[in-house]
Amino acid sequence: MIDSIIGSLSLAKRFPRFAASAAPAAIRRFFEVAGIPIYRWAVQIWPDESGRNPYRLRNQSEMKPFACDVCGCVVYFENTKCLNCGAALAYLPDTGLIASVRSSGTDLWQSGRGLEYRPCLNYRKHDVCNWAVPADDPNLYCISCRLNRIIPDLSVVGNRTAWAKFEAAKRRLNYTLLNLELPVISKSEDSLYGVSYEFKADVPGTSVITGHAGGVITINLGEADDAERERRRLALGEPYRTILGHFRHEIAHYYWDRFFRDDESLCKFRSVFSDERSDYSGALTTYYQNGAREAWDEEFISAYASSHPWEDWAESWAHYLHMTDALETAAGARALFGLPEPDKPSLAITGSETFEQMLNAWLPLSYLLNNLNRSLGLPDAYPFVLSSVAIKKLRFVHECIVKYTTGLRLSQGWPSAGAGTCIGCTLD
Ligand SMILES: [Zn+2]
Ligand SMILES: [Zn+2]
Ligand SMILES: [Zn+2]
Repeated sequence: MIDSIIGSLSLAKRFPRFAASAAPAAIRRFFEVAGIPIYRWAVQIWPDESGRNPYRLRNQSEMKPFACDVCGCVVYFENTKCLNCGAALAYLPDTGLIASVRSSGTDLWQSGRGLEYRPCLNYRKHDVCNWAVPADDPNLYCISCRLNRIIPDLSVVGNRTAWAKFEAAKRRLNYTLLNLELPVISKSEDSLYGVSYEFKADVPGTSVITGHAGGVITINLGEADDAERERRRLALGEPYRTILGHFRHEIAHYYWDRFFRDDESLCKFRSVFSDERSDYSGALTTYYQNGAREAWDEEFISAYASSHPWEDWAESWAHYLHMTDALETAAGARALFGLPEPDKPSLAITGSETFEQMLNAWLPLSYLLNNLNRSLGLPDAYPFVLSSVAIKKLRFVHECIVKYTTGLRLSQGWPSAGAGTCIGCTLD
């Protein structure tokens, strides 16, 4: 099937440009040694002759890697300062750019692009944010920080550092969500459908559970401690445990509510993930007592995903965001390899066939990521194997996002699932 999709994209015409001339010899060599046809990776990452790319982000005009607009040096998404020329930097969420900013003599900044902004209050006051607020926006906080409902007690030593780690991960999450055109609305703006974050520390006798309930995402501050997070990862037998992974997992539960609660499309969810009405707390207790079910990797993306359909959805959703972010970063990195300057390639979710294209790009990219890590003596960056059933779930997440963000009812237009696959309802 992948071959037929490749064929339909006229890759034979594009292949010579990217593989034979544009891609540096080292990249070509890597793919030759790995036995991966380079066009299957490159053509998904870089645009065609028209300058268009099927992965173009809908909201973005430029992509990572970001660059300082004073000296042109590449900078990270998290930077507040250019390490080459010293310019103060901020991320401008309304443009999707990192830009230099300088004081204009008031509480406003003048951006290097001629627009006025205010630093997010968490930037100015606590140095835990690098986003800006457009001058005409009355909010004191940026679109990411305004989601906070409870922040850590900053009088406790170490809490500000821990909080900064969480906010950096939350901004990266929100960057992806905004670019997927998913709603990012705080509970202070919409008490019913908004989302909020509460950062809490354990107190003697009470441990904080990281989790989601009714649009409130609670984060245990202890997860910012690398040694403690690693201890928990080993204790739970997890191959991967990161702060960003927690955010991507928990927000999945929030969007599940937005997508499916009280919606007839639940029958489609159940046909892919099975019936979420099974005993949730009992399922988690069983999982933590007995571990994952046998041969879980044949059907689930992670061991924890096998605990309950809600967790299966959340793990699949989190992996989907891992894929979109890494693919987008790879797309934006072409300039670092001296490849031709195209019309700002990026990742887009625009058509029913693009999940296949995305997957086609992801498999060799994750292979490359793991090999780069191994070459540096590090553990695999993506220590997972995607079974065909797990891929089916990822495709479902993709299709839900496409439908939701294009205003379609989630229940409409699915391919027939076949008789007997819909559990517990009369639709289909
Ligand atoms: Zn600079
Ligand atoms: Zn902020
Ligand atoms: Zn969960």
